[in-house]
Amino acid sequence: MASAARARRKKPRYRRIILKISGEALQGSQPYGIDIDAAYSIAEEIKEICEMGVETAVVIGGGNIFRGGEAATKGIEQSTGDYMGMLATVINALCLQVVLERAGVPTRVLTAISMQQVAEPYIRRRAIRHLEKGRVIILAAGTGNPYFTTDTTAALRAVEIDADVIFKATKVDGVYSADPHRVKNAKRFKMLSYRDVITRELKVMDGTAVTLCRDNKVPIVVFNIWKKGNIKRAVLGEAVGTTVGNI
Ligand code: UDP
Repeated sequence: MASAARARRKKPRYRRIILKISGEALQGSQPYGIDIDAAYSIAEEIKEICEMGVETAVVIGGGNIFRGGEAATKGIEQSTGDYMGMLATVINALCLQVVLERAGVPTRVLTAISMQQVAEPYIRRRAIRHLEKGRVIILAAGTGNPYFTTDTTAALRAVEIDADVIFKATKVDGVYSADPHRVKNAKRFKMLSYRDVITRELKVMDGTAVTLCRDNKVPIVVFNIWKKGNIKRAVLGEAVGTTVGNI
C-alpha cells in the first residue's frame, strides 16, 4: 500500500501544529547556507503530515545564514544584526516554499516584515484561512522585532492561531540533562514540565518562548528531524523525543 494512503488511515492526534525548523536544519551537511537536498527531504516529511489532514504552520529560523546575537559580539549593533537575521529567515522561507511546491504541497509565505513583492504580510485571520484551505503556511521574519528569536515566534504564533502543539525539530533526539555530544552519560528526558525547563535552564527553547507556552498551555515536542518519519510519528502522538507540558 502506498505510504500516502497508509498515512491517511491513521488518525493524527493534532488538528493544527506549529513546526519550528531551525536554519541549521536547512544547512544540512553544508558549513553555511542552504543544502538543497536537505530542504527537499524536509519537504517530503511535511508532505506526509499534510496528507493526513494536519493544518501545518512552519516557523523557519535563519541561523544557517545570520544570527544577530553573534554579530553583536563583532561590533554589529544588535538591532541591525537582528533585522539581518530576520531577513535571513525570509530567504529560508522562500527556499522551503519552492521545495514544498515541487513536492505538490500548496503553500503561502507570510512575513512579519512587509515586503509586498516577495510575500504576503502576516495577518492572523488570513493565516488561519490558509490553514483551513489546506495550505501550509511558512512564517518568515520571526516576530518582526529585534531582540526576539524564531523560537519565541513559534510560541507567539501558536497562541495566536490556536495551534495544539509546537514541534521543535532539532538535530538531537530530544532534551538531555547535558550536551549528549560532549557528556557520555547524558540522559534524555521523555517528559518535562515547563517549570523544570525554566528552573534547570534546559536548552529547549529560549526562556521567553517557554514562558509564553507555559502561560498559554501550549505543549512542546522536541525531536530529531533527521530521523525519517519522525514528524509523522510526532503527529500521530507516538513517543518521539521529549514532551514539555503541564505534568
Ligand atoms: N530574529 C529577531 N527577531 C525575531 C526572530 C529572529 O531579531 O523575532 C533574528 C535574531 O537575530 C536571530 C536571527 O533572526 O538570531 C535568526 O533567528 P534564530 O536564531 O531564531 O534562527 P534559528 O536558530 O532557529 O535558525
